Amino acid sequence: MRKNIVAGNWKMNCSLPEGKKLASEVIHMVQDEVQNNAQIILIPPFIHLTGIHSLIGSSSNIFLGAQNCHQESNGAFTGEVSAAMLVSCGASHVILGHSERREYFHETDELLASKVKFALDNGLTPIFCCGEKLEVREAGNHENLVRSQVDEALFGLSEEEIQKVVIAYEPVWAIGTGKTASAEQAQEMHAFIRNQIASKYSQGVAEEISILYGGSVKPENAREIFSQADVDGGLIGGASLKSRDFTNIVKAFD
Ligand code: PEP
Repeated sequence: MRKNIVAGNWKMNCSLPEGKKLASEVIHMVQDEVQNNAQIILIPPFIHLTGIHSLIGSSSNIFLGAQNCHQESNGAFTGEVSAAMLVSCGASHVILGHSERREYFHETDELLASKVKFALDNGLTPIFCCGEKLEVREAGNHENLVRSQVDEALFGLSEEEIQKVVIAYEPVWAIGTGKTASAEQAQEMHAFIRNQIASKYSQGVAEEISILYGGSVKPENAREIFSQADVDGGLIGGASLKSRDFTNIVKAFD
């Protein structure tokens, strides 16, 4: 059963005290105000995971995620963090393939396929990001590009495995730019991805997978985007750093 999800990717922002303040505010506002049962995922930098995990405590709808993990279990990989380490800090989710990792750290779909598999094998839910750059959309190649990202990184998974993955469609031209895809553009791409999964696996499998939209989601546009038939929530960057904005985005599901 597809779940509604709002995930906040803090990226490389917030000292530990700032992160704890932000998380506490979100947790309290969500508890006091939110009337829906969307899953909320807080995704701070690695070093804040344990601190934020203790604030989340036993909340049943707030989860902890990481922004990346390595594709090996352990070893001489200075500066890297394994999936098992994330689990030991309380993380249940991990973003994989964010466009910033693809762009600045040269992550390929082949590499991401191994990260996704490794995350799943360690009990983490991957939030797999896909999406096209502006020039690709302008050339009309966005569907082909997203098809190959999903195909190469996810379609080696079994039917059981892929149902545990969350997909985030994030047009790169909308990330951090203030320029949001229209609700129609988002719906079109989400339906495209869901159909692709249905063709490879089955309609039943495709219906199990939450597909989030990411790219300049704000309290003002969240309701319209989230109301689209194939949009199951959002991956939120900038607005996740403001507790009021992030909570109001979650409330778009009320
Ligand atoms: C993101 O980085 O995944 C993102 C969607 O950022 P923003 O909301 O700031 O566009």
